[in-house]
Amino acid sequence: MGGIEIFANQYHAFVTLSAVMLLFFSCIYSTSGQDKLFTPIWLFFVGLILDLGANGIAVSASAAYNSGESIYFYVFAELLFSLASMLFMILSVISFALSNSAMLWGSLILGSLGILTVALFVFLVPDGDTINSMRQIFPLAGIISVAVGFWGQCGGRNKSGFIFAALIVTVMFSFILLRFVGVNISSAWYYTALSYVLLSFAFIMMKVDFLYQKTDRYKYEIEQYNQKIEEIIRLSPFPIIISRLGDDKIVLANNNAIKLFGINPQELERYKFKDFFADMDNRHLLNERLETEREVQDFEVLIKTPYSDVPFWLLASANVIDYNYELVLYTAFQDITSRKNRETLLQNQATRDPLTSVYNRRYFEDEVAKRISIAKQQHQPYSVLMLDADHFKNVNDTYGHKIGDKVLIELAAKTERALRDHDIVARYGGEEFVVFLPDIKATQGAIVAERLRQSIERIVVYSDNKQEVRFTVSIGVSSSDISDNVDTLIKTADAALYKAKNNGRNRVEVFTTQDLSGFSEEHNHNVGKNSQHPVFEKENSEEVSLIDDSPLKSENLYPPKGEHDDEMS
Ligand code: GH3
Ligand code: MG
Ligand code: MG
Repeated sequence: MGGIEIFANQYHAFVTLSAVMLLFFSCIYSTSGQDKLFTPIWLFFVGLILDLGANGIAVSASAAYNSGESIYFYVFAELLFSLASMLFMILSVISFALSNSAMLWGSLILGSLGILTVALFVFLVPDGDTINSMRQIFPLAGIISVAVGFWGQCGGRNKSGFIFAALIVTVMFSFILLRFVGVNISSAWYYTALSYVLLSFAFIMMKVDFLYQKTDRYKYEIEQYNQKIEEIIRLSPFPIIISRLGDDKIVLANNNAIKLFGINPQELERYKFKDFFADMDNRHLLNERLETEREVQDFEVLIKTPYSDVPFWLLASANVIDYNYELVLYTAFQDITSRKNRETLLQNQATRDPLTSVYNRRYFEDEVAKRISIAKQQHQPYSVLMLDADHFKNVNDTYGHKIGDKVLIELAAKTERALRDHDIVARYGGEEFVVFLPDIKATQGAIVAERLRQSIERIVVYSDNKQEVRFTVSIGVSSSDISDNVDTLIKTADAALYKAKNNGRNRVEVFTTQDLSGFSEEHNHNVGKNSQHPVFEKENSEEVSLIDDSPLKSENLYPPKGEHDDEMS
């Protein structure tokens, strides 16, 4: 298509071939990794090279003609190159749309027909006009099909490369057409090189366009994918919340989560995920685990909502995921309130006294052993109180067992209320309670015990016939000065309690270090006969036997009659 003038001198040829080299490298670059561009661009490139070859042969043909040689074979070869060039260009265009095998068959049939036609006009019925026409028509047909092909690819976004290429090819086509209609443009030898250079740029632009298209496609796919995820999330039978990791704001809550958390779906962004945590430590723990694991399964969270004051337990599974180009926390929940309640109930059954709801003896012993070892490490003191209701048997006898129970409930409740949250109150036996006071040494323990005794003294319980029932307790105090063994602490507190009973009841006695020597003797002595303290001893016996005039009861333990009458009325 460039005409033989590009081979008119070495300079022209050098410039043109340099442009071909540029085009070649541009083809390599633009088709690498681009399957869709590979076949059309290389077919087009080969088409252009074959056309250049045809021009080269034409030059040799005219040299042969000038030296009087036969030029039939030159002409035949030139036309074959031209024909092949046209075929490659047509294939380049249809390769955008057709399968490889269709192209192969199409080109074979077209090629054979073309070769037959060329042979017919060159050898069998030589016709100079027809040959000249073919010389022009082949490149014209090739380049027009490429132009049509490129223009056909120009619709849509990111098509600047195709538009540019289509423009260049159209101009190339116009040049060939001008020559075909007889306009002399032989002086414009450089336009071939120029069009190759421009095509090089167009091919590179095509590649860039393809990369943009790919990004667009990915974006679209991601959007589709997110829509699908949203759909699945919305329909999930579990409440699901998606919150942004950056600012903790909620970006998606499915219908179940909206209902459960009382979220207004129109104002999603107003909510932060942390707003729903009743316990911030819980939230921090979840965050810490997510930082190390990125995925947390079966994590129990206590949730609060704007519409209800009562928090409830949920089981959460949380993952950090990519969602709409952001890192988010995907959390699915399961309501476990009833399970949690059942657990608490079972736990309470194992650790609490069913009548008074304070801890039971086993829990007290286990827990206090742990607390003592911590206190020892930190060199902190502690005290243990042993409480026993005075003349409790009388309460039962006078008002009945039911009122006796009521008294025990009030006594336990008052004791818990009067003490600090981290003190431990437990029911040790029938009407006996034991208390662990961390950070409290013996002297302070006695003060606490005295205050407690006074508050209990003020309790009034009403009998069935609306009579006031009052009662008192005796308290024995032991402390870290005496022992770091739970058992010994309880026994020594109990010895002090025994002393309080002996000294008239409704009073506090402290077990001191001086008491220790006597205690161990007495204790060892007791171990020989009976391993329990008289107070326990009584409890182990039948209730009926307690009315008996045991020597303890009549001589030592009971205060003179009338002393406590007011309390027990
Ligand atoms: P003291 O001042 O010496 O402690 O006299 P007391 O009557 O309190 O002593 P004792 O240990 O002889 O009596 C304890 C009574 O507590 C015996 C028992 O019937 C009663 N008791 C034990 N457990 C319960 C209970 O759960 N409910 C009721 N209502 N009474 C109980
Ligand atoms: Mg008692
Ligand atoms: Mg007792």
